[in-house]
Amino acid sequence: MSELPYPYEAPASQALFDRAAAVTPGGVNSPVRAFGAVGGTPRFMVSGSGPYLKDADGREYVDLVCSWGPMILGHGRPEVLAAVQEAVARGTSFGTPGEGEVALAEEMTARVAPLAQVRLVSSGTEATMSAIRLARGFTRRSKVVKFAGCYHGHVDSLLAAAGSGVATFALPDTPGVTGAQAGDTIVLPYNDLDAVRAAFAAHPGEIACVITEASPGNMGVVPPLPGFNQGLKDLCRDNGALYISDEVMTGFRTSRAGWYGVDGVEPDLMTFGKVMGGGFPAAAFGGRADVMAHLAPAGPVYQAGTLSGNPVATAAGLAQLQLLDDAAYAKVNAVSQQIQAMVSEALTKEGVAHTLQNASNMFSVFFTDRPVRNYDDARVQESYRFTAFFHAMLANGVYLPPSSFESWFVSTAHDEQALQRIADALPAAARAAAEAETTA
Ligand code: PLP
Repeated sequence: MSELPYPYEAPASQALFDRAAAVTPGGVNSPVRAFGAVGGTPRFMVSGSGPYLKDADGREYVDLVCSWGPMILGHGRPEVLAAVQEAVARGTSFGTPGEGEVALAEEMTARVAPLAQVRLVSSGTEATMSAIRLARGFTRRSKVVKFAGCYHGHVDSLLAAAGSGVATFALPDTPGVTGAQAGDTIVLPYNDLDAVRAAFAAHPGEIACVITEASPGNMGVVPPLPGFNQGLKDLCRDNGALYISDEVMTGFRTSRAGWYGVDGVEPDLMTFGKVMGGGFPAAAFGGRADVMAHLAPAGPVYQAGTLSGNPVATAAGLAQLQLLDDAAYAKVNAVSQQIQAMVSEALTKEGVAHTLQNASNMFSVFFTDRPVRNYDDARVQESYRFTAFFHAMLANGVYLPPSSFESWFVSTAHDEQALQRIADALPAAARAAAEAETTA
């Protein structure tokens, strides 16, 4: 590893990574964790507290990943831990209905007006997979429109031009997804309503739904252009298709009511995960009552889960949502703006071309001076500069997402001390980005 242009000292993590690689493919349980895009040893974390993570070598990092979004209150928030402990003490899984799942569903539907009903599941992937099945069952149509660079989990039919981990690992067509599974998926450029119009014209009466990230964060943060989501909604309505807004990443993060709370466009179906689980595996899909009525056992479209509505996960999620009031969002947004300003200032000082884009408190840095409106734009950035920047930040105790195709996430726990640590790490990282040379 000595060829890597940055300090490399993580012996305990490296030993764990070696052990892991013997028993787990690539040594990780989700590909982007392997540091494949940036090289080096993935840090094996042993604990989290507030805005900090501690790794197996005893080093502390300011966490700007926040478990890829869920930890919006920081790590180990006492009220959430107390709710979990209280739930665990009563038992961990019953396989029956329970009050906790009702309370979580009530909290979600109270916050998000288009959610007449929700069904709880265990991962965002399950949520989008089930929403697509329901849309197909409801409309009795088979085709699905998705956008290049949008990731909706590793659902077979949606693993086409899927951004994020798939973009990072350049697996445009993953082996294992058959032509039949992907054949009903129409992939279009993001932020291009004409392309959607043309798809509806080319496939009259065949498109069941359009699924889009409410505001994409899986090709870096690329918000919808003004009118884009409304245009999708209108085209779906005019053509008898359902508009599915994937809020797994944005839901209860970008506002009390997620991205719906920002742009007010009413989806037919929505999907959720991350924040609503409070750091546990809980996710959901929901929406229009007449559509949800088609779901078993109320209707004919089958969907189920042994651990769906798990009492510990729902207790954590409910406790987290109850703490997420207007003041909490104001705090997260302020922290996000401060960090964005600091990053931009440091890069500007070193003359590094960059574009910062945000969607509420989600943001990412593109190493290009041009605005990024779709996946093609995102891919022309100078990612090698991100690699140098990433490792300099890591060496100085700031943990960034290990890919330039990811959103950064912050929390209410990021206080002045954490911000100061970021400020201290930035000058060297900006210099490293400026001095980086492409290996391509
Ligand atoms: N949808 C979006 C927008 C996501 O960002 C993700 C995961 O990052 C998913 C779906 C899949 O969620 P999960 O990883 O919980 O399966």
